[in-house]
Amino acid sequence: MRGPPPVPQNKPRSGRKLEAIKEQSYRVCEIFKSIQGEGDVIGRPSIFVRMYGCNLTCTWCDTKYSWVGQEKAKEGIDYARMASRQILQEISEFDALLVTITGGEPLLQPLEHLVQSLANEGYEVLIETNGTVKPSTGLQKLVSTWSVSPKTSNAGFSIKYGGLEWLQNVKDYYLKFVVVNPKKDIKEILAFMQERNIDPSKVILQPDGTREDYVNAVKELMDFAKEGPQLRVLPQLHRLAWGHMRAV
Ligand code: SF4
Repeated sequence: MRGPPPVPQNKPRSGRKLEAIKEQSYRVCEIFKSIQGEGDVIGRPSIFVRMYGCNLTCTWCDTKYSWVGQEKAKEGIDYARMASRQILQEISEFDALLVTITGGEPLLQPLEHLVQSLANEGYEVLIETNGTVKPSTGLQKLVSTWSVSPKTSNAGFSIKYGGLEWLQNVKDYYLKFVVVNPKKDIKEILAFMQERNIDPSKVILQPDGTREDYVNAVKELMDFAKEGPQLRVLPQLHRLAWGHMRAV
């Protein structure tokens, strides 16, 4: 039998008591190590925990396998049910300090026990969310970085977001918008930002990763953005390197 997962080197343990939080098990789609391909942490080695299930149906979603057919999803086939300690055990097989919890929509599951367990072991935790589910106050503070990706009408539906005021309580965050049609979408993104008084330095524009001519999509967005608003453009690094492969 394996022992407990090792504590990553040079990282302080969090002092909070794990026993104070109810232990949970999670629907997990996949766990793997790769290079973070997006956002403020682009280029960093990371272990990814992809949770199963989503509450949205974005047309350009590049991880549809994490939610399509979820009404009939079967444990052991579409997802694995894993307790925090099992996830930690699997994570400990990899060598990286950053853990990205993604989906699907990970906030559909109560993540506090898992994130506290990871923090106690010295991991830095990034959560990628679509921003439709407000995290608990405890979770807001526990996570190192929040990557929030609000959906505009290019996702194929219209959705009313709240003010996202909870982001003011967190350690760090950024907003990531997928752009399909730069002229139309950036107008919508600017209105979204203005309504919520969002600092432009917190915003990243990302081209539609499902475009077959991805480099052209990056170029079109850069061409538009350099003449327009002061917003940062980043490609998906994993998309450039590996295309549409899963678990990268
Ligand atoms: S919210 Fe994310 S995982 Fe869910 S459908 Fe949209 S892009 Fe896919």
